[in-house]
Amino acid sequence: MGEAERGESAPRLRISFWCSNGHETRPSFASDAQIPEHWDCPRCGFPAGQDEENPPAPPRTEPYKTHLAYVRERRSAADGEAILAEALAKLRGEI
Ligand SMILES: [Zn+2]
Repeated sequence: MGEAERGESAPRLRISFWCSNGHETRPSFASDAQIPEHWDCPRCGFPAGQDEENPPAPPRTEPYKTHLAYVRERRSAADGEAILAEALAKLRGEI
């Protein structure tokens, strides 16, 4: 078992994965291991796939939205201006 002494007892497969940033990573797998469809890119953390031309899309990062952001989305800019104008008018005692 001379092979075993060099740490190559089991045949290993090197599989290339590419992330959407073009990073290639080549983890090795035991020949009887199940090759995962996706691999996390060790450089940027994006999912990487075995198809270089068609890497998996990066995860969508949903920015945290404040309550105010939701309110702004619900109201159009015009509405916002009307509300602001009304508030200013109240401040000035015009209403
Ligand atoms: Zn990457």
